[in-house]
Amino acid sequence: MTRTSIDLDSLRARLDGALVVPGDAGYDEARRVWNGAIDRRPLAVVRCASAEDVSAAVIFAREVGVEVTVRGGGHHPAGTSVADGALLIDLRGLGGVRVDPGERKAWVGGGALLADLDRATQEYGLAIPSGVVSHTGVGGLTLGGGMGWLTRRAGLSIDHLVAAQVVLADGRIVRADSQTHTELLWALRGGGGNFGVVTEFEFTLHEAGPIVEYAMLFFGLDQLGEMLRVVRELVPELPTDVNVIFGALNAPPAPFVPEAVRLQPGCALMVTGFGGVEQHQEVLDLFRKRLTPVFEMVTPMPYVALQQMIDEPNEHGVYAYEKGTRIAELSDAVIEQFLEHVPRKQSPLSLALCYRLDGAFSAVDDDATAFGGPRAPHYQLFLVGLSPVAEGLAAERDWVRDFWFGLEPHSGLAGSYVNGQVEIDGSELRAIYGAKLDRLAAVKATYDPYNVFHYNANIVPAS
Ligand code: FAD
Repeated sequence: MTRTSIDLDSLRARLDGALVVPGDAGYDEARRVWNGAIDRRPLAVVRCASAEDVSAAVIFAREVGVEVTVRGGGHHPAGTSVADGALLIDLRGLGGVRVDPGERKAWVGGGALLADLDRATQEYGLAIPSGVVSHTGVGGLTLGGGMGWLTRRAGLSIDHLVAAQVVLADGRIVRADSQTHTELLWALRGGGGNFGVVTEFEFTLHEAGPIVEYAMLFFGLDQLGEMLRVVRELVPELPTDVNVIFGALNAPPAPFVPEAVRLQPGCALMVTGFGGVEQHQEVLDLFRKRLTPVFEMVTPMPYVALQQMIDEPNEHGVYAYEKGTRIAELSDAVIEQFLEHVPRKQSPLSLALCYRLDGAFSAVDDDATAFGGPRAPHYQLFLVGLSPVAEGLAAERDWVRDFWFGLEPHSGLAGSYVNGQVEIDGSELRAIYGAKLDRLAAVKATYDPYNVFHYNANIVPAS
């Protein structure tokens, strides 16, 4: 059957939601993803209104022999949620969040954004650890792991995932939990979107907020080496109520930044405190004793505002390229690479951001989840090349790649976080998952033997 003879009306008739096809007014909006550099034309977009719609789309695609992609928040920099000629299963209509504060649980639609999740859970002073940009999708973020401000204190998003409703490659709708489809649940906790379409996540919740302490200490580029040495010494010893994300970035063009410094390149410590103002001040003083910031901004803020703080520089439509790496230690050799590469970035939007992973993250057994990477304390570096215009992207991509290749021999750990990488080939997948890749391939063979869900960091079914 050729593409043109596919009877999309017969799919439309099976849906509660809408079907958007080329030529429809909403088609261009429906196919757009976060990375402005991605410009692909799907066969059609299924605006799913229910798990049954997802199932109908999967079954239809198999009947007519077209590929499917699955869109959560559309944030993956590689644009894996959209492909030329494929049927796009759009989960944005499944963005609802239900919270039971007594049970400390949340049921989160497969297309919800972090903003939806935070808004609903914070009504009760509850949260799960997740990412730091609120228009990211819960779906893609959780399925790869999910790390952010709460990770030292409460682990990864997947450490709170206790069950999921999943549409499988044959269209069945199942629940994976600690009693049924247990291997599937294990695989969903880090193995990405390989095993089916999650239409609902069930999370246990953690107390956080509603007010948290925040500080940004910003330093000049000439202080980068010293800042990294101080991080090496202090951050691993800090109480886990405190989280420090650090790296190289340009000063924001914000009112609290001295005019002469706005948009200037530099480096920063972003310090969040979940343990009260006194503890936060004590920690800031530790840094201030060692380093004098060019400026600092210290303020309490709602947890929801913290989660949205860097939404704007990361808005949809920016041209993006990203690679990441794990770093065992901020060794002198690693710091040398920062000193060599950071000054070469050209776009003020590009950044190198590093998360410290320890505390609650490291309290979880390596094999308890499919998370790709060791649970032993380490750092995760995100090298993000961003340009507001298409013509600027090539230079940022080169910057990211050169920096990444420079770090590789010194990082001390193979692989990276699966969600922080645009290109992932077979050997990279092995570096990410190690021995877990074989178990994941076996789960894939059970639940998706024909590799229907392959627009992702693809795990090939075991033969
Ligand atoms: P999408 O592009 O929609 O999906 C990504 C992949 O997941 C696709 O292959 C898709 O098919 C699959 N998928 C999505 N939803 C489902 C579902 N419900 N069921 C099955 N498969 C699904 N990560 C962090 O951990 N912490 C951060 O702080 C963080 N910050 C980020 C900031 C920015 C600006 C960006 C661009 C990314 C960030 N990430 C972070 C990485 C992020 O976790 C990944 O990009 C993730 O894939 C985004 O998920 P999504 O649903 O928005 O993306």
